[in-house]
Amino acid sequence: MAKHFGPAHQSARCTVCNHPSCPEIDRALIDGVPLRTLAATHGLSASALCRHTRHLRHQLVIQQRQADQSHVSAFLEKLELLEVRLDRLFRKAEESRSLHVSLGCLQESIRVLSLREKVRHSLGGLASW
Ligand SMILES: [Zn+2]
Repeated sequence: MAKHFGPAHQSARCTVCNHPSCPEIDRALIDGVPLRTLAATHGLSASALCRHTRHLRHQLVIQQRQADQSHVSAFLEKLELLEVRLDRLFRKAEESRSLHVSLGCLQESIRVLSLREKVRHSLGGLASW
């Protein structure tokens, strides 16, 4: 179920944004209820509802962007944890002169760096929306 988007997505002149049933109307629009049906149910014009879909779309884009950014942040935190563990393992491997394990740590570190670079590029994509 879609949540109400609150004052941030409201347009001062939009009769739908200012309608007391705006959350319910937004959910119905997302569910694909025809504009004419909604207009009749809520005493609104179909053209006002049509204009309002732009406000709703804008808000959905913002929410998607926030969800993407929070997903990326969580991923970066996991990478950071991996880097810490790899570093710890690498130091132990060096102390015990385990060249094979040291080399494995370095190879994995390169993979983590490569992933970081990919995430950096995806952040660039998000920023250019
Ligand atoms: Zn609106």
